[in-house]
Amino acid sequence: MDASSPTVAVIGAGVGGLTCAALLAHAGRRVTVFEKNPSVGGKLNWLEQDGYTWDTGPSLLTMPYVFEQLWQKLGRRLADDLTFIPLPVTCRYRWTDGSVIDEDAAFWRRPDVARFLHYARGLYDLSADAFLHHPLEDWWRQVNFRNLPKLRHLPKIASFRTMDQVVRRFFGQDPHLIQLFDRFATYNGSSPYRTPAAFNIIPYVEAKFGGWYVKGGLYEIARALERICRELGVAIHTDREVKCLKTAPGGETPSHPGFRLEGTGDSGVYDQVVCNQDVLSAYPRFLPPATARRFQTTRLDKLDPAISGFILYLGVGRQYPQLSQHNIFFSDDYPAEFRQLFDEHRPADEPTIYVAVHSKADPDRAPPGCENWFVLVNAPAIAPGGSIDWTIYGDRIIERLERRFGFDGLRASIQVRKQFTPEDFQTRYLARAGSLYGFASHGVRAAFQRPRFRPPGMKNFYFVGGSTHPGGGLPLVCLSGQMVADKILGRHSGFT
Ligand SMILES: Cc1cc2nc3c(=O)[nH]c(=O)nc-3n(C[C@H](O)[C@H](O)[C@H](O)COP(=O)(O)OP(=O)(O)OC[C@H]3O[C@@H](n4cnc5c(N)ncnc54)[C@H](O)[C@@H]3O)c2cc1C
Repeated sequence: MDASSPTVAVIGAGVGGLTCAALLAHAGRRVTVFEKNPSVGGKLNWLEQDGYTWDTGPSLLTMPYVFEQLWQKLGRRLADDLTFIPLPVTCRYRWTDGSVIDEDAAFWRRPDVARFLHYARGLYDLSADAFLHHPLEDWWRQVNFRNLPKLRHLPKIASFRTMDQVVRRFFGQDPHLIQLFDRFATYNGSSPYRTPAAFNIIPYVEAKFGGWYVKGGLYEIARALERICRELGVAIHTDREVKCLKTAPGGETPSHPGFRLEGTGDSGVYDQVVCNQDVLSAYPRFLPPATARRFQTTRLDKLDPAISGFILYLGVGRQYPQLSQHNIFFSDDYPAEFRQLFDEHRPADEPTIYVAVHSKADPDRAPPGCENWFVLVNAPAIAPGGSIDWTIYGDRIIERLERRFGFDGLRASIQVRKQFTPEDFQTRYLARAGSLYGFASHGVRAAFQRPRFRPPGMKNFYFVGGSTHPGGGLPLVCLSGQMVADKILGRHSGFT
């Protein structure tokens, strides 16, 4: 590594931060990562107890090509580091009336579903390049003759309808399919009743690229990224929280002073800073007060925070054959659930429950004859004055699974029970109000309102990760890391 090459500090070792760090180091930059927690990975993390292991956040991988391309950019073969396993059933959906739908290849081929997918494909064709694969400010690069035929899909994108309104037009006679497709709004922490129809692209992406598991657990992605970073010479310091930034002499040029990172015990001066901290909590911490105040009044005070999550990690001392690897147990009243989350700022009385059981694919992740359950329900972002007894709420979730969905003996067979609350998301990851993805994608301008990589008034400072462009989810934060690295290196981002 060239001792005269620019130095970069990365605040936070989430997937966005690690992706960016690896690419910058690969390009010869001298990179140092500061992570406040004891382990890297951010929300993609790991828990183990009594022979059980759990991925603490993400449980399903989509768009695996994003990681394939990252590995290619790093001059490596993904298969040498990770094994991606396709899931024959991406998710099993259940209702209290006993109905079951498996999201598998046959499901996507159903004529009614195929018609919806045809519509959603138009959204994808028009918007994937502009919104997923390029920085928002570079959308104009998409305006060229090659893309003109795609413009016929523009009315679908610019529609004032919500996801739910369009889903109803396709599946008006079938409340189960409406609920199933509405559910994709929660992939970015939003309500289907307020999210613009353009986000119906999400189920298309799942149908097109499938659902995947990573052998050994999704945390293997974080482990692999950490290993690669270290091989490339990235210094990774855990248990170091960056409290504030100070400009300091000694930067790239006299007109561009460098940054000193306060609170880390590190005396280095860095030419550039990449911030993987949640944008909403990072603004007041790292940006000039006037810029932070403007952000408060133009964004924070006006836009809905994305939802948070409440998680139970259960070690279950028996096996339930009716479960697939990923399962959704729907509530009877979806509109009420989102009203309670977004308007009343409280957990839903009857929540939709997601249960992932990775030991179905990877028996080593639980003792013999047992299962490692990851149980997730949507939770409200933390509101002032609210106080929730999450342990009691957890009891209600277990009771609901027993009583309404036939999991007899579940409570009695639980050997390990741990929980993670919105307050934990706030304190562990500095996620403002415990929100998982920054702002919800509510309103027609949602996609354009995500905070940009480069905040105003800050030179050589970049945001990366789920609360900036293009959004939350492992592939998107990996794309975010790639785009920010390209920006810093002066390269044009884009995928073919
Ligand atoms: C419960 C749950 C389920 C999910 N399920 C899925 C799924 O199935 N599939 C999927 O693709 N995605 C899923 N996601 C989303 C996915 O996990 C996230 O979008 C992604 O991991 C976020 O990555 P990030 O780069 O934004 O960083 P984060 O994961 O937010 O990490 C940021 C890191 O920065 C550190 N940090 C913050 N501030 C500082 C500071 N000042 N100093 C030092 N360090 C700091 C934090 O400690 C953290 O480690 C899920 C998320 C959650 C929470």
